[in-house]
Parts: sequence; structure tokens; C-alpha cells
Amino acid sequence: MLSLHALPEKTIERLSQYRRVLLKISKQQNKDNIFSHEIASILHITSVQVRRDLMLIGYSGSQRKGYQIKMLIQLISSIIDAKNGQRIALVGVGNLGSAIIPYLNSKKKSKLQIIASFDINPDKINRKISGVNCYHLDELPSIIKKENITIGIITAPDDAAWSIAEMLISAGIKGILNFTSTSLRILNKNVFVEEYDMITLLEKVAYFANK
Ligand code: NAD
Repeated sequence: MLSLHALPEKTIERLSQYRRVLLKISKQQNKDNIFSHEIASILHITSVQVRRDLMLIGYSGSQRKGYQIKMLIQLISSIIDAKNGQRIALVGVGNLGSAIIPYLNSKKKSKLQIIASFDINPDKINRKISGVNCYHLDELPSIIKKENITIGIITAPDDAAWSIAEMLISAGIKGILNFTSTSLRILNKNVFVEEYDMITLLEKVAYFANK
């Protein structure tokens, strides 16, 4: 089996999708096994892709019975989840930030949980959203260390993204999900940065919708 660092980014994304499909099926149906073509048809991808991804993580099902659902969920979890879970800080508790906190935390969409949030607006400090306290940005270094937080989400204005990212990295963050339109990709090789830019994605959709 390859180490986590050797797995392609797209494979990690699909493993997360496979796990969600498997969890849903194991809750809704009385089923122990599943075939690659069943997972593939739910996600509208090819069964070859599913088999290739699962072989990459060292799992091959039986030709007659398919994959054991419980075992596969456990294996994927052992690969994509950190041993003690990973804790998240969100910076910028505006329209977007205050929607993301309840989405991630209340609906138990993921094992990743937002532990603390930060802002500079005095009206937001010491307010809680879904039980998550908002601290002043100045407290970020100490809270990140105290709470053992390893992931940062940036939902502050675009022009604050760089300085916030630098603060997060100095405090020891290892991964950033950046919602601003300021690119942070070249920031630091030891920190994994993912950009989520709705306008770019929408313009891509608009381009293909116009073809
Ligand atoms: P908003 O103005 O509602 O919220 C921004 C929040 O950040 C405010 O609470 C503000 O007080 C706080 N803030 C300002 N400077 C800060 C700093 N230095 N440190 C910490 N907090 C600070 O804005 P919004 O609509 O929530 O958008 C937030 C960001 O997300 C923007 O960069 C916007 O472009 C981006 N955005 C991205 C998407 C997407 O799909 N990627 C969608 C919507 C918005």
C-alpha cells in the first residue's frame, strides 16, 4: 500500500466520496458487500476508476461478492482521518464563515470539526455559532497551540488573506482551505493549501453551458 503522501489529490477526493456513499448504504440498506460498479454508478464514474483507487490503497474485493462495506469504510477512514481527528480554526466570521460553521459542525458532515473562530470585528468577538466561540484575531497563535488545531479555513476579505495565512502557518497550521480570491498556493511547501473559488468554478460552468 502507498503512503498517504504518495496518493494523488484526486484519489483522496474520491476516497472521501466513496466513504460517504458506503456510510449511506450501510445505514439505509441491509447490505454487507458492494461491487465497484454500484459505487461507480452512484458517483457517475467508471468502475475501473473505483477499482484503481481501491487497489492503490491495497484493497481488492472478491470477484463474486465485491467489497466488504464495513471493512472498506474502516480502511478509507484509517487513510484519510488523522489518528486523533483534526481540529479546525475558521478566520472571518461573516456571511460565508457563519454559514460554514453550522454546516460542518451541526450536521456531522465530516469528522473534521471547527473548534474556534476568529474575527476583528468587536461585535463578533465572544459570540458563539453552533457552540464555536469567536476570538479576536490577536488570540489566534495561543488558541491554535492550546487547542491543537492543525487546519485553517480563511473566509475573511481577500486583502487580509496573506497576513492571516502567515499567522496560521507561524502558529503551526498544516493545511489551509482558502475561500478568498487571493491565491495562497506558493505560500509554504510544508503547508497544504486548497483554494475554493466559486466565481472561477461558475465561470467554467457558464463557459461550457454556453457551448
Ligand atoms: P463578510 O464581509 O460577510 O465577512 C468577512 C468577515 O471577515 C467579517 O466578519 C470581518 O469582520 C472579518 N474580517 C475582516 N478582516 C479580518 C481579518 N484581518 N482577520 C479576521 N477577520 C477579518 O464577507 P463574506 O461574504 O463572508 O466573504 C468572505 C470571503 O469569502 C471573501 O474573501 C469573499 O470573497 C469570499 N467568498 C468566497 C466564496 C467562495 O465560493 N469561495 C463565496 C463567498 C465569499
